[in-house]
Amino acid sequence: MTASADKFTRQTLLDVQPLTPNLFTLRATRDPGFRFRSGQFARLGVTKADGSTVWRAYSMVSSPFDEFLEFFSIVVPGGEFTSELSRLEVGDTLLVDRQAFGYLTLDRFVDGRDLWLLSTGTGIAPFLSILQDFEVWEKFERIILVYSVREARELAYQALIAELGQRDYLVENAHKLQFIATVTREQHPGALSGRITTLIENGELERAAGVALTPEHSRVMLCGNPQMIDDTRKLLKQHDMHLSLSRRPGQVAVENFW
Ligand SMILES: Cc1cc2nc3c(=O)[nH]c(=O)nc-3n(C[C@H](O)[C@H](O)[C@H](O)COP(=O)(O)OP(=O)(O)OC[C@H]3O[C@@H](n4cnc5c(N)ncnc54)[C@H](O)[C@@H]3O)c2cc1C
Repeated sequence: MTASADKFTRQTLLDVQPLTPNLFTLRATRDPGFRFRSGQFARLGVTKADGSTVWRAYSMVSSPFDEFLEFFSIVVPGGEFTSELSRLEVGDTLLVDRQAFGYLTLDRFVDGRDLWLLSTGTGIAPFLSILQDFEVWEKFERIILVYSVREARELAYQALIAELGQRDYLVENAHKLQFIATVTREQHPGALSGRITTLIENGELERAAGVALTPEHSRVMLCGNPQMIDDTRKLLKQHDMHLSLSRRPGQVAVENFW
């Protein structure tokens, strides 16, 4: 990906927090002119030692109302972008395309009662932005946030998720959110065990949520690993749930991270 000079702004890193050797969060200043809808992504650029710039898509974790931009990143061993990004420190420059992109936004659904947010790994990022925006709490009666990781230590933003319901503007709606973590490679207290697809197939996810996946009431957003998204879409098809398109509103919206 490339961008000409006037297409991006230079932002400054305010905070970098490692979570595991391969996961970290970063916070940067936000250009006041950078507008986005919760669920969208930015194109971020880092300049390499040879002077060239590498660009990659990153979903915002922060809400459209925050004055800063927050991101949650993987470190891909040998990855062109993340090798550079993970070297950055507070005070360093991050390039941000002036325009935000993406359709993993609430306006994909014209109706619905229960919103299912199904994520793997860093795919939780856009859902955290959506959950920090008031709209989702008004639009849906129930919100089921499902977060799948391999090991429990990879569960990021647990404090943020726990305190969402205590925010002044959400407190009346706190009962709507149900958080379900699932850990695939170890047992973890309070979390389910197994992949999202397995938990849908064996009914465990619906049991844990206390609500059924139905085309009438459920709207489902999927984000993260493309294999999870493909496999889950096939399962949802069996429940008569289809991708929501502007010409044909449906029940499912997706964002593949690679
Ligand atoms: C719309 C969109 C939004 C994205 N948002 C995020 C985000 O919020 N956080 C984030 O970390 N990445 C996100 N990504 C992925 C990101 O753009 C890069 O792929 C990632 O930073 C790795 O870049 P790289 O050059 O180091 O490796 P790449 O050469 O880009 O990727 C190498 C391989 O690493 C694996 N990989 C890439 N990204 C991930 C990931 N996030 N989790 C697990 N494995 C991965 C894949 O197997 C991929 O083929 C997003 C991608 C898209 C398309």
